[in-house]
Amino acid sequence: MAARVLIVGCGALGSAHAEALARAGVGHLRILDRDFVEPSNLQRQTMFTESDAEKRLPKAIAAANHLREINSEIEVEPHIIDVNYSTIERVVETCDLVIDGTDNFSTRYLINDACVKHDINWIYGAAVGSYGVTMTIRPHQTACLRCVFEEAPPAASAPTCDTSGVIMPIINIVSAVQVSEALKLLTGQIDALHGSLMQFDVWENDWRRIGTSKRREDCPACGLGLYETLSRADEDAAVLCGRDAIQISPSRPTHINFPTLAERLRRAGEVKFNEYLLRFKTGNFELTVFEDARSIIRGTDEIAIARSLYAKYIGT
Ligand SMILES: [Zn+2]
Repeated sequence: MAARVLIVGCGALGSAHAEALARAGVGHLRILDRDFVEPSNLQRQTMFTESDAEKRLPKAIAAANHLREINSEIEVEPHIIDVNYSTIERVVETCDLVIDGTDNFSTRYLINDACVKHDINWIYGAAVGSYGVTMTIRPHQTACLRCVFEEAPPAASAPTCDTSGVIMPIINIVSAVQVSEALKLLTGQIDALHGSLMQFDVWENDWRRIGTSKRREDCPACGLGLYETLSRADEDAAVLCGRDAIQISPSRPTHINFPTLAERLRRAGEVKFNEYLLRFKTGNFELTVFEDARSIIRGTDEIAIARSLYAKYIGT
């Protein structure tokens, strides 16, 4: 009841975490999300209903409404924000624990840097298709995310839930492990933590664990204390004046294979490409993707919406 937990991202994983923690009686839940509920979310995001989608409610607000009905004795604090280098430290600092419900690597590195810097435990989790992965990070005690994955996979290199889908059972498994770890940490049962990078594939029936007790001495975050993502002066998103469009640049250079990306995007909307660029239409938005993964997202002048579309369809 005395604990404060931050849930970053309230999609499939985040809403599963939120419900379990609310039912367990965690006294204060802070929920961050930049998106709104859509009908296509309902197949896996069990917190939300058709009525939430019809009203296009922000996920943080819809989740808070349901959580208050589930447990009226706890405090729920929804925030409709885009987590970036200028907001992350402020929202992390006053929490006991952070639990990952995001859908992209750039946000996870931000969480990692902020949590290592402020010495706050956090629980990484991700799922796509039938595969999921999770790891619990205790800064300076266990490996951090950057010890294990030195760099994010390049933009557009991996499937996302919006291009390849995800089945709900893997969400339940990853969230079950993340929430169990959260309960162990909140009650001080450090010896019960699983101490590994846990991977599951419920279609291939493959379950693996890799030990993560060893930290890398030269890790930029937990070894050298360089929190690159927190001091990023070169903002990766820019509003293109008067064009109702935002430009997103990838955090590191890459080379996109258009036929492969087009194949993936065809399931989610209309796609065309030539040797220079790929154009993808979904709803009222149009994404133009260049060879180096730089993208112009037309149909919005809000950076948060553009970032969300980039994470969903291009992937970071
Ligand atoms: Zn590290």
